[in-house]
Amino acid sequence: MNKPDVLVVGGGVVGCAVALEAAGRGATVVLLERERLAAGASYGAGGMLAPQVEADRPGPLLELGLRARAMFPGWCAALEGAAGLDMGGILRVVATEAGADALRERARWQRAMGLVARLCDPAECAELAPGGASAVLGLWVPDGRVDAHGFTLAVAQAALRAGAQIRLGVPVSRVLDGAVEAAGTRWEAGAVVVAAGAWSGLLCGVPVAPVKGQRLMLRHTGAPLPLTLWSDRCYLVPKAGGRVLVGATEEPEAGFDRRATVAGVAALAAAAAATLPALAAAELEEAWAGFRPAAPDRLPLLGRLPGHERTWLATGHHRNGILLAPLTGLLLAEAILEGAALPAACDPGRLQA
Ligand SMILES: Cc1cc2nc3c(=O)[nH]c(=O)nc-3n(C[C@H](O)[C@H](O)[C@H](O)COP(=O)(O)OP(=O)(O)OC[C@H]3O[C@@H](n4cnc5c(N)ncnc54)[C@H](O)[C@@H]3O)c2cc1C
Repeated sequence: MNKPDVLVVGGGVVGCAVALEAAGRGATVVLLERERLAAGASYGAGGMLAPQVEADRPGPLLELGLRARAMFPGWCAALEGAAGLDMGGILRVVATEAGADALRERARWQRAMGLVARLCDPAECAELAPGGASAVLGLWVPDGRVDAHGFTLAVAQAALRAGAQIRLGVPVSRVLDGAVEAAGTRWEAGAVVVAAGAWSGLLCGVPVAPVKGQRLMLRHTGAPLPLTLWSDRCYLVPKAGGRVLVGATEEPEAGFDRRATVAGVAALAAAAAATLPALAAAELEEAWAGFRPAAPDRLPLLGRLPGHERTWLATGHHRNGILLAPLTGLLLAEAILEGAALPAACDPGRLQA
C-alpha cells in the first residue's frame, strides 16, 4: 500500500480497534507493530469491562466506560475467535464496616444516575460467589469481562478481514506529522495514529508513563467461580477452563521493569486465598507483568498530537484500555475520516504546560 489513509502504530487492543473501525469505513489502513500482536498490556489484562466498579465518582471516565460497555455485545457478535464475553456482572465485597459505608455511598450515587447497583447481604454474596470469604456487604453491578488476549486477536482478525494490513516486527523510531520512520524506511499516510500503549510517551514526548501491574493466572480445579469477585485486596476474574486471573499490583515507580517479582506474586497469592479460600490449592500457571499507559490525570489521550495536523493519539487508557478500545476505535475513525468531534476531557492539549 503506497500511502494509506490511516497508519496505526501499535498492535495492542487500541491500535487493532482503530484499524478495524477505520478499515470498516472503507479507509486503507496499515498497522505497524514492533513485536507481535498483543505484545504489551493487552496480552495479560484482567479483561474486566468495569466502568461501575472502576469509577470512584461520576465523570468523563464513567461516561466513556458506560458507552464502551454497551458496545461489547454487538462488537463481540461480529468477531470470530475466543473473545470470551460474559456480561454476568461483578460482585464487589467488603470485609469491614468502613468498607460497607463506602459501598453504600457508591450504590447511592450510581443509582441516582439511573444505574443498576444492587447491595447484597452476606447470604446473597455467598449465593453469587460460592466459597468466597465471609463479607460484611457486597455490591453487584452489571459490568462484564472478556479474555483480553483473545479479544485483541479477534479484533485484529476482524481488521484484516475489513482490509487492513498488519506488519509485525516493525519498530517505529520516529513520529512525524503524517509520517513515521521505521527500520530506515519512511512511511507516509493521510493520518498517523499512535496507539503504542505505555511506550507512546517515549515515541511522541507526551506525558504517558507506565504503571506496572502484576497478575497471576491460577488453574483452579474446585467449583468454578461464576462471576468476577472484587475484594478489598484483589480481583478474581474467571477464565476459560476453570482458570482464575488474580489482579493486580500497581507499581508506578517500577518503570518498564517487566519482571514478575516474589513480592508481587506472594501478595497476590495471599490476597487470592483470602478472597476465595479454595484458591490456596490452585496451581500457579503464570505470573505476568504489564504496563498500563497512564496520563497524569488517568484519562485517555484521544486527539491530534499537539502541534500536528495529521498525527493523532489513541493512548493513556490506564486501567481501562480493554473496556475503552471499541469506543476509542469508533471515535478516532469518525474524527479522522468524518471530522467528528472527540470528547473534550480526552483532548491531549489539556496536558501541555
Ligand atoms: C495487570 C493489568 C490488568 C489490567 N486489567 C484491565 C481490565 O481488567 N480491564 C481493562 O479494560 N483494562 C485493563 N488493563 C489495562 C489495559 O491492559 C490497557 O489499558 C490496554 O491493554 C492498553 O492497550 P494499548 O493497545 O494502548 O497498549 P498495549 O496493549 O500495551 O499495546 C501497545 C503495543 O504497541 C507496540 N509498540 C510500542 N512501541 C512501538 C513502536 N515504537 N513501534 C511499533 N510498535 C510499538 C507494543 O509492542 C504493543 O504491542 C490492565 C492492565 C494491566 C497491566
